[in-house]
Amino acid sequence: MLTHTGGCHCGRVRFEVIAPAMLEVADCNCSICNKYGYLHLIVPGERFKLISGREALTTYPFNTHTAKHFFCSTCGVKSFYIPRSHPDGISVNVRCIDGGTVESVSVTPFDGRDWEKGRAEFRETTDT
Ligand SMILES: [Zn+2]
Repeated sequence: MLTHTGGCHCGRVRFEVIAPAMLEVADCNCSICNKYGYLHLIVPGERFKLISGREALTTYPFNTHTAKHFFCSTCGVKSFYIPRSHPDGISVNVRCIDGGTVESVSVTPFDGRDWEKGRAEFRETTDT
């Protein structure tokens, strides 16, 4: 486990996340993740720290409103959010982690279109 840093494009939103150097991430095919090309690194809430940019975050609520889709109001980048599959956790966008600390990224497809089924399968592979 080590501390990765990352953030949005303009730099207002900065965070730290504690995770292995070899990351396992989920590629979700739901309507929103598909458009973002978002790659999910899901961690328990206590392993994520927002360093700056809370005031820059705008929320995009849709569907059940369980998920909190945060994006930077300046540059529009969605660097992390609270996922519907793990309301006590944080999903960090691996594409927004700074280079240097990540050794490898292995991507697992997540069936977000068939959400209930996808979540059941995904929960079996994550401990959060
Ligand atoms: Zn930004």
